[in-house]
Amino acid sequence: MSEPVILLDAGSGGRASQRLIRGLFFKFFSNPILEEMDDAARLDLSGPLAMSTDSYTVDPLEFPGGDIGSLAVHGTVNDVAMLGADPAYLSCAFIIEEGFSVALLEKLARSMAEAAAGAQVLIVTGDTKVVPRGAADKLFINTTGIGRILVSRPPQGKNARPGDAILLSGTLGDHGLTVLSSRSKLNLSPRLRSDSAPLNHMVGALLRGLKEVHVLRDPTRGGLATTLNEIAGQSGVVCVVREDSLPFTPEVLAGCALIGLDPLYLANEGKLICILPPEEAPEALEIMRRFPEGRQAAQIGVVLAPGEQYKAAPGQVILKTALGGERLLGMLEGEQLPRIC
Ligand code: MG
Repeated sequence: MSEPVILLDAGSGGRASQRLIRGLFFKFFSNPILEEMDDAARLDLSGPLAMSTDSYTVDPLEFPGGDIGSLAVHGTVNDVAMLGADPAYLSCAFIIEEGFSVALLEKLARSMAEAAAGAQVLIVTGDTKVVPRGAADKLFINTTGIGRILVSRPPQGKNARPGDAILLSGTLGDHGLTVLSSRSKLNLSPRLRSDSAPLNHMVGALLRGLKEVHVLRDPTRGGLATTLNEIAGQSGVVCVVREDSLPFTPEVLAGCALIGLDPLYLANEGKLICILPPEEAPEALEIMRRFPEGRQAAQIGVVLAPGEQYKAAPGQVILKTALGGERLLGMLEGEQLPRIC
């Protein structure tokens, strides 16, 4: 007997859809708002609010440290949190290729539910579409998140100021290299693991414990280098990063050296950049280090005014290398690693 698979009629909106929704998704996502089964979820939220959406197409669907289900929760939760908000609700939409394994869909839905419980968000509305074989690659998930902004002056990319400290909550490149390694079956190191994790609890602690946070950003696609370029551009400042202060696991350093990738451009899914006045930096690092995913938090650089040193223009990012040189860190050009999240 063949393994049960998702058939086209499971996305039809009829009986087969009902069976899939009630029998599989409700088993894991159940909560009073979702179970109303109306066309829209009724939410009780007062503003100002932050909202973010992202589609997840990661290949392979499962990798050490996570899978497309947990990633679809963490990625969107983290983007909402970066605006200084407390994510409360998620929507989720599944696009499933006909023939997809029911057992694997259950496993991924369970992982998604566990990730949502860990982040303390509710999945309150969703959609399922099934497309014919070949019209999509196995499974894509879209999630949208919404939450209340916790502070009157939320952290934003435009708020970095000359003199600010640049902090990073932990090691770089873990997610990108892990996905690449499992996709290509390179098996670089059995110790490589994605850093996929919710950051909303850390963000809440930072905003409660500090007087002022100028910028929060998660260095996902394009990595640290691209994210710092975005911030420097939005704020019209220069970011200077010290190479010898950047935290890496030995596995990421060795793997990147072996296949010739720059870890500063690799995606992270459980790290944040925090830019704030220098006098707040020691307390911010102390708060980050209370969380397992923040144990290796470090100050990695400073914000300068354009032309203050190095004749740098607004929007530029400079790496002070371990050997004492300086290198301009540009944005990621093209697509280094497609389908990383
Ligand atoms: Mg982001």
